[in-house]
Amino acid sequence: SYILAVETSCDETSVAVVKDGHVVLSNLISSQVETHKAFGGVVPEVASRKHVEVITLMLEQAIEQSGIRPRDLSAIAVTQGPGLVGALLVGIVAAKTLAMALGKPLIGTHHIAGHIYANRLVRELQYPAMALVVSGGHTELVHLESEGKFKLIGRTRDDAVGEAYDKVARALGCPYPGGPHVDRMASEAEDVVPLPRVWLEAGSYDFSLSGLKSAVLNALNQAKMRGEALEPSAVARGFQEAVVEVLVEKAVRAVREYGSRQLLLCGGVAANRGLRAALQERCAKEGLELVIPPMEYCTDNAAMIGAAAYLKWIRGEGTDFDAKADPGLSLEAWSVQSEA
Ligand code: ATP
Ligand code: MG
Ligand code: FE
Repeated sequence: SYILAVETSCDETSVAVVKDGHVVLSNLISSQVETHKAFGGVVPEVASRKHVEVITLMLEQAIEQSGIRPRDLSAIAVTQGPGLVGALLVGIVAAKTLAMALGKPLIGTHHIAGHIYANRLVRELQYPAMALVVSGGHTELVHLESEGKFKLIGRTRDDAVGEAYDKVARALGCPYPGGPHVDRMASEAEDVVPLPRVWLEAGSYDFSLSGLKSAVLNALNQAKMRGEALEPSAVARGFQEAVVEVLVEKAVRAVREYGSRQLLLCGGVAANRGLRAALQERCAKEGLELVIPPMEYCTDNAAMIGAAAYLKWIRGEGTDFDAKADPGLSLEAWSVQSEA
């Protein structure tokens, strides 16, 4: 099968053609990050307008690069949610138009299912599997009992990890998006400012990051009032160690409890060197299989949407043409209905 996939949920416009759910024939990504930098974050109206400007040309180029004739496409997939409603809408209108013109099925796809199935672009998945989703808007542990069956076992109760990184980065004077800067500073640090680990109730797989973020801001302010300055790299190191320790511990505990055969890391924060190294070391020590996609498939891209949509396509589970952008789309509800 050949699925053409469209992703416009946030500030990346992306179009891909994916063969059989895991072979990427083309995957074009146009990032708006330079546009939004001036505002210190993503401005929704600006994001929608930028998607409109590039989407048509990107559709043409992604098809051309794939070497597949439009009439040979099997289905058109598009991110239906979660995301910015206006941004999602641009992709959905483009995908519906193309699907109607070509007479192909439409597959509305869950953005986080996409992040998780980015791992299928790397390797055959084995179930049950556990996914640790760490992105700009999500921090979740997802149990996959079998292919395409999602169960949320833990989530953040306040900030997402990427969001916390960006806020701490801003307090340390780094430009948006600050996650990679904090990562680099942490790796170069010679000192560590100790910060609290937030575990929540015993046995909970939930996360909380706003307290840690406040602890960073307090430490910076208190030092300032004493007329001292904390070494920014030491703060970055302390923050990163606190975040990574909790993520690794909870992910490994979940893998044990659910008998997962693989741990799948995904989302933009999967780029974090501290997190990758800690997970790799821990999984190697405990004999657990860890899968991490390459960077281009960790941040937002359409190839991952094509990989997730394939789960629905092989089961004949398409989406009605009156489907709407759904910023609150549930991952569990998006699970496949039947066995393949
Ligand atoms: P969602 O998928 O939840 O809707 P998103 O798609 O906007 O969110 P991603 O593109 O997956 O998020 O990830 C972007 C986030 O990843 C940003 O917050 C960015 O700061 C963070 N990030 C990127 N690289 C690193 C890194 N090396 N260390 C820490 N954070 C990072
Ligand atoms: Mg982005
Ligand atoms: Fe994303």
